[in-house]
Amino acid sequence: MNKPVDFAVIGRGMMGSACARYLAESGASVALIGPNEPADRITHSGPFGSHHDQGRITRRLAHDVDWARLSSRSIDRYADLETRSGLEIFTASGGMMAGPRAGPGSDFTESFLKVADALDIPHEHHNDATLPRRFPEFTFPPGTEAAWEASGGTINPRALRDAESLLASKASAEIIPQAVTALNQNKLHFADGTTLAAGHVVMATGAYAHTDDLLPARPEMRVYARTIAFAQVDETEAARLAKMPSLIFIPEGLAYDLYLLPPIRYPDGKLYLKIGGEDESPLLTNRSDITTWFQGDGNAQVSETLLTHLRTLMPDLAIQGTHTGSCAVSFTTTGYPYIDRLSDGLTLLTGGNGAGAKCCDELGRLGAMVARGESIQAEGYETDFRAVLA
Ligand SMILES: Cc1cc2nc3c(=O)[nH]c(=O)nc-3n(C[C@H](O)[C@H](O)[C@H](O)COP(=O)(O)OP(=O)(O)OC[C@H]3O[C@@H](n4cnc5c(N)ncnc54)[C@H](O)[C@@H]3O)c2cc1C
Repeated sequence: MNKPVDFAVIGRGMMGSACARYLAESGASVALIGPNEPADRITHSGPFGSHHDQGRITRRLAHDVDWARLSSRSIDRYADLETRSGLEIFTASGGMMAGPRAGPGSDFTESFLKVADALDIPHEHHNDATLPRRFPEFTFPPGTEAAWEASGGTINPRALRDAESLLASKASAEIIPQAVTALNQNKLHFADGTTLAAGHVVMATGAYAHTDDLLPARPEMRVYARTIAFAQVDETEAARLAKMPSLIFIPEGLAYDLYLLPPIRYPDGKLYLKIGGEDESPLLTNRSDITTWFQGDGNAQVSETLLTHLRTLMPDLAIQGTHTGSCAVSFTTTGYPYIDRLSDGLTLLTGGNGAGAKCCDELGRLGAMVARGESIQAEGYETDFRAVLA
């Protein structure tokens, strides 16, 4: 039996680690619980995390004001997190959103331009006349409009999570690198037979919040199996693309957006651009389907389609080789993360909607407030982040 704590945060991912940091830094006793990233994903039986990667897009620009607020507040704190943890989290390569001025997808373009103006997000506004000169690496379809911000770019999600977790530890949070197998009232059970009693539990288990039976009711979420395509480039090509921003864009003929990251160095020492985005993909409705999906390499056909879009957007890109990856994204019914106190002893913090990595620090802050029983109504958001439960 572990020593009882004020708060047990289940899930050592992006949101859980940030939440644990805020709780621990406010003086509470905290346990941050979850397994390490698997050393071998093919033999690992779960749980997996949606942040086990080297790159995520970060940007203040967004299709929605609350998402822009969540990320703006988080971006403002990256420097402090880097200084205090000693970890490199953020690369300010610039962030861009681009889409058609008219026709299918134009509502997307209109929305991010509107949000940029409404929140006074400093940005450059580009169109057919200016895009080729300003961003010669891209060939956008005619009729494209884009917003570029200097304060966007990429984050290393592993480093951001590690920074949150390290600072939580420095504030005396205990890290328990195990999965929780059962939750009875506020008593947590681990695979090795040990238990932990907590005054309050925060459930931050990402996609698993929808599929596991730890919660009294299932949060309504669509958990999608997503494929990622990687394009390897050499050092010379990466140097040519040194000013390439991260990009959310709608390719010609599509009505939904794709994302593209500039070259990032991976643990194998090589440099890769990463592209992803799908309108629909298989739904993962149980733990075993999530495990099987994460153990695999995604869908080869989806990857080929993504790489075709990449080659169309960047016809001069010198690709050395390609490979695919798998991940899971959790979309909530409201379109916003669920940050909800389900009972006196339980808070839910999940639902990244494919955009939760960059703003995990603010989500963790709000999660900590809710877990402490504080209201987040005056935090300046239009949504209340309430969960929809089955
Ligand atoms: C391909 C892809 C691209 C993305 N791109 C972007 C992007 O560019 N920008 C962006 O901002 N976001 C992006 N996202 C979304 C972002 O990665 C997620 O929103 C974010 O990781 C969600 O954080 P989380 O803490 O909710 O979940 P996770 O990061 O998945 O963490 C959940 C953790 O809970 C743990 N866990 C599960 N069950 C248990 C249990 N029973 N006991 C203990 N621990 C448990 C897991 O091991 C995991 O570590 C992307 C996601 C994917 C899949």
